[in-house]
Amino acid sequence: MRVLITGAAGFLGSHLVDRFLSDGHSVIGMDNLITGSLANVAHLDGKPDFDFVLHDVTEYIEVDGDLDGVLHFASPASPVDYLELPIQTLKVGSLGTHKVLGLAKAKDARFLLASTSEVYGDPLVHPQKEDYWGNVNPIGPRGVYDEAKRFAEAMTMAYHRYHAVDTRIVRIFNTYGPRMRPNDGRVVSNFIVQSLLGEPLTVYGDGQQSRSFCFVSDLIDGIYRLFLSDEVDPVNVGNPDEFTILQLAELVLEATGSSSEVIRLPLPTDDPRVRQPDITRATGILGWQPTIPLESGLRDTIEYFRDLRDADGLVTPPVVSEAQG
Ligand code: NAD
Ligand code: UDP
Repeated sequence: MRVLITGAAGFLGSHLVDRFLSDGHSVIGMDNLITGSLANVAHLDGKPDFDFVLHDVTEYIEVDGDLDGVLHFASPASPVDYLELPIQTLKVGSLGTHKVLGLAKAKDARFLLASTSEVYGDPLVHPQKEDYWGNVNPIGPRGVYDEAKRFAEAMTMAYHRYHAVDTRIVRIFNTYGPRMRPNDGRVVSNFIVQSLLGEPLTVYGDGQQSRSFCFVSDLIDGIYRLFLSDEVDPVNVGNPDEFTILQLAELVLEATGSSSEVIRLPLPTDDPRVRQPDITRATGILGWQPTIPLESGLRDTIEYFRDLRDADGLVTPPVVSEAQG
């Protein structure tokens, strides 16, 4: 297959590129580097099956030759990023999704949208199943991301229904692992980097809010299976093991051997209280379930950030949320 992956220089996009290449496919990676880094694809330099194209996907996309797949991963994804880039986030989810769907239609290629658990907002149903419509505040600060992704899902289904494009939608739950940006503000990278630098771990609110963390290799395997499947309706992919943020802080302190203290900062506006995927559909349809427990995924991720620190790559402390309620 020959596929286009948008957001290819980002955390998940770059791992997805690796997966397609290692299975013998040819990949065009497209990115405007707004939150990504060429360092994430530097190991692919000179590979004949990989081309990198610097392009903003909200602008008209031109690709020569046939395509079998278009996988749309371009979008700021960390709350700190999308609060700093609200218009770009809305544009890449709306205009960008429209452009990539148009490309998939023109090339008669299969399309996969990277959607998110944020479409469920601050959920009133727990764990979240795909048939839950969500509890999203459209005018709150997180609305720029949540509504962009909800629009992207609607646009994907419209291209499926009205243009017969062969589409897939994955709803990704919190994922962590090597190649996360050290200062993208997400909780796993923040706590690890803070521990390694001897800085206080910044727990927002009472730390009793929960998340369920999936290691990147598990997630990529689930997405790859979904892409190859026949399933058009959205599928949750994530790890259902649920932790409070305070529990995560303790696990990171233990795994890094750090003596950093834990401090409290106000909870950001509309921060979901709970989040846990119901993966019945992924398990039944894709034969998929996560295999990496948090403790061992954290060890690999800590190793990555330790190497970065030793190469002087952790020069600034992580970014802490300013969108406090
Ligand atoms: P990331 O920020 O590391 O990667 C996103 C990439 O998209 C970056 O390389 C960025 O430069 C690129 N990009 C953004 N706007 C663009 C544009 N207009 N044109 C071209 N490139 C653009 O984030 P990530 O964690 O790798 O997330 C990738 C995708 O997965 C996103 O769509 C995100 O919404 C989705 N997702 C991620 C998670 C997670 O836990 N990591 C959870 C749910 C959904
Ligand atoms: N969080 C925290 N300290 C941090 C960063 C995040 O307590 O330094 C909390 C945040 O308030 C949320 C959870 O950790 O409840 C997950 O945040 P993240 O930014 O990773 O992603 P989200 O799941 O909110 O999209």
